[in-house]
Amino acid sequence: MITKQKGTMDIYGEESQKRMYVNDILRSICEKYNYSYIETPVFEASELFHRAVGDATDIVSKETYDFVDRGNRNLTLRPEGTAGVCRWYIENKLYGNQTEPVKAYYIGKMYRYDRPQLGRYRELTQFGIELIGSDDVLADLDVISLAYNTYTILGLKDVTININTLGDKESRNNYRKALIEYLIPYKEELCEDCKERIEKNPLRVLDCKIDGEKDILLNAPKTTNYLNETSLNRYNKLKEYLELLDINYKENPRLVRGLDYYDHTVFEITADVPEMGNLALGGGGRYNGLIELLDGPSVPAVGFAMGYDRTVMAMTYTGVNFDTKDGIDIYIMYVSDTEKETAALLAQDLRLNDFITETDYLNKGLKGEFKSADRLKAKYLIIINDQDLENNEVNVKDNLTKEEEKVNINNLVEYLDSHR
Ligand code: AMP
Repeated sequence: MITKQKGTMDIYGEESQKRMYVNDILRSICEKYNYSYIETPVFEASELFHRAVGDATDIVSKETYDFVDRGNRNLTLRPEGTAGVCRWYIENKLYGNQTEPVKAYYIGKMYRYDRPQLGRYRELTQFGIELIGSDDVLADLDVISLAYNTYTILGLKDVTININTLGDKESRNNYRKALIEYLIPYKEELCEDCKERIEKNPLRVLDCKIDGEKDILLNAPKTTNYLNETSLNRYNKLKEYLELLDINYKENPRLVRGLDYYDHTVFEITADVPEMGNLALGGGGRYNGLIELLDGPSVPAVGFAMGYDRTVMAMTYTGVNFDTKDGIDIYIMYVSDTEKETAALLAQDLRLNDFITETDYLNKGLKGEFKSADRLKAKYLIIINDQDLENNEVNVKDNLTKEEEKVNINNLVEYLDSHR
């Protein structure tokens, strides 16, 4: 038997209904904030991620699905969504005569060769937004506000928004130097990866899955002590705005995020989830240098990505009501061939009039059809028989009260509508 790959999921039944529910909410909130839906390819040139996400990140150094295609191209299954959106933005020269920022959202599969466990997959889904073309704090606020409100509307009311700032290039470099000086004496106490990271990418040490909670790192210098005046003012403004919008945040001066491309604002959303503990549900930040790094012009941008699978799990464990549709509206029953033709006709008609309609594809006969209707939790049964058809009528039965009525086919939609 061929089985599914480690770290992948088949999504069906109740799980897929939950996702439809979540998708509807995501789409609706993105519309309100005026983000447009975008799909970018699942595979891209490997170089895109090597440059954008960074060679020194775990994601690129250990977790990408890389392959060479039949044309000898080095390709990678995307591990995240931002790089692809930026590639699209640059390739289509959307910066040309741009007067408004580009605002795009995606929901899609990402691929990371991670060690699979509960809430950690090799094929995962992320929902994300990118706002490209504004350096204003209002743009950071827009993104955090959308993220925060999304979790709330999804029913996760107790999420924590952890925020921090890395400051501009100058502040970040000063911090980087201070962090290297601080870490060097502790080198031997860090994991093998972090030993190497100290010089190459010291900020990443703070984000290490192995060392992250060690005292050495909890006592490391804070980014906020190395901000120049402009960066500090910017950070204070963001906090003011968040307070204005009543968005509860928690400052975490050692939050740096896993990817290479952030500056200024970084944020992460966590929640205490029953049975799962404290869980990172998403994160984002400002990435003013990324588009230039990918050979585009210098264009500021800010974004956010939600761990979709984890969010659905968190909702499930928290007891959120997914409002999943329970049962169908109508089950159509027939026996003879002429009755079957009418069944086909009525099924189409009712479906086009917004009724969830099902019929028998296996010629089960009335007994089997009654059973199916119950299994599918049909609210109404339409029982067709040749005698009634002579009068252009069918039998409509309320499957709860068991009341039956003959209804003229021409009035069927109207009748069912008035009984919704
Ligand atoms: P990142 O792109 O690494 O910042 O991840 C954003 C969010 O995606 C995280 O907060 C997680 O909720 C989720 N996530 C990251 N990696 C995985 C994974 N391997 N499986 C499931 N969800 C993940």
